[in-house]
Amino acid sequence: MADDTSQEPFPWHLGVYDAHCHPTDTMSSIPFIQKMKARALTVMATRLQDQELVSSVADKHGIKSASPAEWEEEECIVPCFGWHPWFSHQMYIEEEEAEQGGERKKLEGEEKVKHYQSVLQPSKTELTEEDRRMFLSWPDPTSFVAFLSETRQNLQKYPLALVGEIGLDRSFRIPEAWNPDLEQQRNDELTPGGREGRRLSPYRVDLKHQKKIVKMQLQLAAELGRAVSVHGVQAHGLVFDTLKELYEGHERKVLSRKQQKKQARDQKNETDVHEKQESGPMPYPPRICLHSYSGNPSNFKQYLNPAIPVEIFASFSTAINLSDAVGEVTPRSFEDMIEVVPHHMLLVESDLHIAGDRMDTHLEDIVRRICNVKAWKLEEGVRILGDNWRRFAFGKKT
Ligand SMILES: [Zn+2]
Repeated sequence: MADDTSQEPFPWHLGVYDAHCHPTDTMSSIPFIQKMKARALTVMATRLQDQELVSSVADKHGIKSASPAEWEEEECIVPCFGWHPWFSHQMYIEEEEAEQGGERKKLEGEEKVKHYQSVLQPSKTELTEEDRRMFLSWPDPTSFVAFLSETRQNLQKYPLALVGEIGLDRSFRIPEAWNPDLEQQRNDELTPGGREGRRLSPYRVDLKHQKKIVKMQLQLAAELGRAVSVHGVQAHGLVFDTLKELYEGHERKVLSRKQQKKQARDQKNETDVHEKQESGPMPYPPRICLHSYSGNPSNFKQYLNPAIPVEIFASFSTAINLSDAVGEVTPRSFEDMIEVVPHHMLLVESDLHIAGDRMDTHLEDIVRRICNVKAWKLEEGVRILGDNWRRFAFGKKT
């Protein structure tokens, strides 16, 4: 353990970056981003209601170059576009639709009931009247192919935008529809579409359906060469396997020390032994961030295989990884996790839904804890985490 860094002043001036958050859930907090101590936020989109909000915030606050020294004061967010697993049931997938230019046709009535019946768990052959009523009260499912084409347009419009938040979640259940009483009391400051105070139904989204949704978004990220912020809850093996399916056949050649020496010798003697370089877009995204990573250290170790051609990052938040306990004692399990993540793969995030002071407090808390576990001085830690974030967002060449 390092000396406790809690007395050292926090080096915000070196640049602290939030790798994953949702300020568009509270649009009234957006003007505070520019006044925050954190230099830039990576802002996720998740569902129907927030895609346009993220792009409107990007119009005003999107960063325009990969070098922070060139940023104007109002440049303080990196927009991300994606469809979150918690909303994956609201999408139907019809491959033939791709050619039709992605019309956002909605499913209604019987088609809607059939769709929900086909993508939910527990799957029932006979629906009760109550099931039917609940399905009909949920949003009309829309075309995922149409969404993907809108997302492609957003990514092209914002060349520094990333893909997120996407992922797989085995544990969440779909909230029931709003009842009129509850709807009256809802907080108008919040962007609609989230759970808020609604009760949970017994239904989960079938993982096969979730996997199709996540995979097609990973392929879009691959096509456009963008990094991705990935959500995984009780599905760490499946997240890994899904990524692996995309890069299989493109593994990096890992040479032993002996082979490396031999290669160096050969290269001295012959000039034309250069390995064939792969070019053009790869079938896998260049970089992913496992956001608020909740797997255990042995789950994580599979990502340390040097043959994996995707650059992997793991990001941690006080909100999720430390149950929101700002300033409290760091649990041993968290220390064990941070210890297995190599320094060049670490990121920090708030995962909060309101921008402002609390986001800064959360970021400072998680950075201090990581510096303690890694025995880094704060300045050293903030520099490493900042370099990592810039590599995650912009790639190696910056
Ligand atoms: Zn999130």
